[in-house]
Amino acid sequence: MNRERTHILDTPVEFLKGVGPKRAELLRRELGISSFGDLLEFYPFRYVDRSKYYTVSQIRGDMPYVQLRGRISGITLHGKPRTSRMTATFSDDTGSIDLVWFRGFKWLKDKFREDKEYVVFGKPVPFGRSYNIAHPEIEPYEGKAMAGTTGLQPVYNSTEKLKSKGLDSRGTGKLMKNLLPLVSEHIPETLPKGITGPLKLVDRQEAMQSIHFPSDNAMLQKARARLKFEELFYLQLNLMRHRLLRREKSHGLVFSKIGDCFNGFYQESLSFELTKAQKRVLKEIRRDTLSGKQMNRLLQGDVGSGKTVVAVMSMLMALDNGFQASIMAPTEILAFQHFESVSSMLKDSGVEIALLTGSTKPADRKRILDCLKNGSIQIIIGTHALIEDMVLFERLGLVVIDEQHRFGVAQRAKLWSKSHTPPHVLVMTATPIPRTLAMTLYGDLDVSVIDELPPGRKPVKTIHQYDSNRLKVFGFMRKQIEEGRQVYVVYPLIQESEKLDLKDLTDGYESIVREFPPPRYNVSIVHGKMKPADKDYEMQRFLRGETNIMVATTVIEVGIDVPNASVMVIESAERFGLSQLHQLRGRVGRGSEQSYCILMSKYELSADARKRLEVMVQSNDGFRIAETDLRLRGPGDIQGTRQSGILDLKIADIAQDSQILKFARAQARDFLEDDPHIEKPENRVVRKRLRELFRDKLFWSRIS
Ligand code: ADP
Ligand code: MG
Repeated sequence: MNRERTHILDTPVEFLKGVGPKRAELLRRELGISSFGDLLEFYPFRYVDRSKYYTVSQIRGDMPYVQLRGRISGITLHGKPRTSRMTATFSDDTGSIDLVWFRGFKWLKDKFREDKEYVVFGKPVPFGRSYNIAHPEIEPYEGKAMAGTTGLQPVYNSTEKLKSKGLDSRGTGKLMKNLLPLVSEHIPETLPKGITGPLKLVDRQEAMQSIHFPSDNAMLQKARARLKFEELFYLQLNLMRHRLLRREKSHGLVFSKIGDCFNGFYQESLSFELTKAQKRVLKEIRRDTLSGKQMNRLLQGDVGSGKTVVAVMSMLMALDNGFQASIMAPTEILAFQHFESVSSMLKDSGVEIALLTGSTKPADRKRILDCLKNGSIQIIIGTHALIEDMVLFERLGLVVIDEQHRFGVAQRAKLWSKSHTPPHVLVMTATPIPRTLAMTLYGDLDVSVIDELPPGRKPVKTIHQYDSNRLKVFGFMRKQIEEGRQVYVVYPLIQESEKLDLKDLTDGYESIVREFPPPRYNVSIVHGKMKPADKDYEMQRFLRGETNIMVATTVIEVGIDVPNASVMVIESAERFGLSQLHQLRGRVGRGSEQSYCILMSKYELSADARKRLEVMVQSNDGFRIAETDLRLRGPGDIQGTRQSGILDLKIADIAQDSQILKFARAQARDFLEDDPHIEKPENRVVRKRLRELFRDKLFWSRIS
């Protein structure tokens, strides 16, 4: 019985009626579908309600489709040889619209009868003062919905290549009609009764039937809820298993004492009081590093909330216990900046700090590697090549990863799989990420949040201005400069339009110099195409206050800390993403003066761009901005999530389904509490499903 079940869902899709070798190859390449089971899990992405009729007068421009009932008249062929286009008039009691065909109409031309009623289905497109529908589906009206369609008709995603082989949504629908009767009796349940029962989830077999062929909306909703829950439950269960396993198996280094490094810094070098949030996070880290288990902690906090100090103090704990520590950054620029800021924080401490990146000269590299091995370098800062190169440490105790969501679970795991007693790991995210995304991307980590800015910070005031108000903005800049402040003016530089963008930047620079001429004013310019030495020179001038204005591309996004800079003007702000705008804004508001962020844009804006600018004006809260970003762009577009692979969700959407996600996570937690090793007989299905889903993932290889 069991064997037969797996057998039929594992059948190559080629053998399904209507597929064959060519389509099978296409399905595999375009959609990753190779078996019956894969096809079964290719869910519709929306449904069309075929039980509902509209009237012509109800048509609006934004409808994805309409189904109409009426008569067809005035069939006309157009075009020189009368073969390029056919139109017809479709009318009901409320009005008429045009139907249009651009091809394949020859055999249609004589089919319609003026005395008969038809059902027409398609997407209305505004045309002049009315609408038309191109290539509608048409059938004689038989007193019921179109033949072969129930009320809700599934719509499947397709690609150009699939369409060219007849696998548009309808074609895929036909395959499903062949598939379901074959497999429906053999679809195994994947959730235990202990979960489906109390939660009243429909069983998997019923869910699969209804997701492809819903009998009504209520059944469809039940099917969707069940399948979304299942998908998110397994995602969370897998992450939580990782965490559990690590807790059980891994030994952690113990930082038993707080000594001279930490105390010296705390008492002598730290020029400010730590915020409550910073102290709380340090306590959490202290507890972790005393526990005898490896720490895997995510540190989240808005720009400027003071994560770097926390990271530095954590490293000092490691040093006090005779260990080395390291910061890994995703880019060389960031590594360099960490090096600069950590060096300046620890300049009186006597701690040995080094920078190691791809551009470190061979001689220096050799010396650094030697010193890491003999322990004389205590803190090493670099890119993640640090770890992959198998740099050898004398005693590595703590790794801080400043990652901007670039590493997934598996990459992080590499960090500790190489050494006997793994170092503690603190992951810092530079941008706040939505909680649901955090749960998914970092579900295996413990989370600390710095939810408080250092005192005395005035929230940045954000203003949106159209380009036509530029003179007003110049006036404002002048006033701020008179008061001794400095100003950033940032231009987008996007790879696809690099040349144009650079021209915008230099044009902008010239017009600013005209407006703010020497000797009274000084203007710096910095962009990614400049030589590092020139860039550094200009940065330094601005840092020392010798220039009033810094005209730059986004190189400053992750850049310098100039508390005296109080104005950030962002040109073509509509072209930036939300998190990027938020990062840029974080460059100002670092001093005690009121700071401003001015978003310049053209007048005509897309709905999304307008929404982005509105959110920036309304909110300084990085978490809220991140949530909006997720909703506007969808999880797949958030930086780094695509590569992470764990967001290849088939039906759930972590932006839309955050409630189900939280619920699924809670269920997964309860489940593991009850059966941490998933060994109870009634949970066998869970064990089996986890294996299927995460077959080749690290988790299983580690316990086998
Ligand atoms: P993040 O890395 O979270 O963006 P940083 O650690 O770079 O933030 O801190 C931003 C600025 O705030 C730095 O200039 C830092 O010295 C300062 N800072 C950090 N913590 C405090 C604090 N508790 N009180 C005052 N200033 C602080
Ligand atoms: Mg920082």
